[in-house]
Amino acid sequence: MYQLSEAIILRHLDYGEADRIVTFLTPDQGQMKGFARGARKSRRRFGPALEPYARVRLHWAASRGEMVTLREAELIDLRHGLRTDLGALALAAYGCELVEVLLAEEQGHARVFDLLDAFLAHLAAAGPTPATRLLLELRLLQMAGYVPHLLHCSICCQTLQGTEAAFDPARGGSLCCGCAGPGGRLAVGTLGSLARLLRTPATAFADIRLGERTLAEGSAAVTAALRLHLHRPLRTLAFLQQVTAQP
Ligand SMILES: [Zn+2]
Repeated sequence: MYQLSEAIILRHLDYGEADRIVTFLTPDQGQMKGFARGARKSRRRFGPALEPYARVRLHWAASRGEMVTLREAELIDLRHGLRTDLGALALAAYGCELVEVLLAEEQGHARVFDLLDAFLAHLAAAGPTPATRLLLELRLLQMAGYVPHLLHCSICCQTLQGTEAAFDPARGGSLCCGCAGPGGRLAVGTLGSLARLLRTPATAFADIRLGERTLAEGSAAVTAALRLHLHRPLRTLAFLQQVTAQP
């Protein structure tokens, strides 16, 4: 049985002399793996459409086992801008691996597909603006069902008062100063900003600007929350850290 779907190429692996194994994301069936026979020789059937981060239309035939057989690939958007900016490329690779690892088992693929598509399109058009990574991570946490407590203390459930609070994802997220014990503090305003960002459309990346403190504290909190839910370290993170000199 033949199938046809739009897809985002997450990554590929060269196999044998001329073949390629492609991991891709579809809106309806989530992550899939496909075997592209002769992909590195047959420009007619696959062209540049199996490059990572491209948006494509794929034709495949179901086969036994978990890998489908790709028949043809039609390029919709190669996202050329990504391929000329090392920072954008590193963040694109990180975003695709994050989706692959965090949402491997998830349903509700269409929202994840739209989010990743908008993220890659934004990177290709505008490069990696400071809030881009934070927006992707925060929204993926939400889609995976792991969004931490933000505006209330995770322990006593009181609305956060005053200007400072703490954040510990292992204890559920935000903590009031009474429940937190000694140690790191962040601005209550940062937690409020994260909650507001979760109410923006998942595909909005342009024109979202954050203050320096919000960005630094918010990124650290969201990265810590993510780390709790990843079952393996991300291979692309070291490259991203090298390119951006960010933790
Ligand atoms: Zn408390």
